[in-house]
Amino acid sequence: MAYDRNNIFARILRGEIPCNKVYEDAHVLAFHDISPQSPTHVLAIPKGEYVSFDDFSQNASAEEITALVRAVGHIAREQGVAESGYRILANTGAAAHQEVQHFHVHLFGGRDLGGMLPRR
Ligand code: 5GP
Repeated sequence: MAYDRNNIFARILRGEIPCNKVYEDAHVLAFHDISPQSPTHVLAIPKGEYVSFDDFSQNASAEEITALVRAVGHIAREQGVAESGYRILANTGAAAHQEVQHFHVHLFGGRDLGGMLPRR
């Protein structure tokens, strides 16, 4: 899938839409999810144009990948959920119901997050 420069996170990166920022560096922006599913629900995104984890894992530089992973750990500690525990999740593609076509990592915490996936 080609990258769509009008997706909502691209517009946040360009400053066209506001976000509640929690972290930024040369490669990463992180902000609170607009519709949080847990007391802590942060989205960490690369600044580069990657559609999904699949795209990012194949095409991002080692520096970009390192920056994102380090940022997520840093944010978890800063948000105060590293001790109690947290979950990171990246919906990828149709089966995972990825809504925004710019790669993002969800960071959930601040409550008991239950089992990993609902059983069918
Ligand atoms: P996905 O289903 O793609 O993994 O998750 C997309 C997430 O982006 C959802 O949790 C949704 O609430 C969040 N989201 C969608 N639009 C906006 C927005 O304009 N601002 C922020 N901060 N989050 C958004």
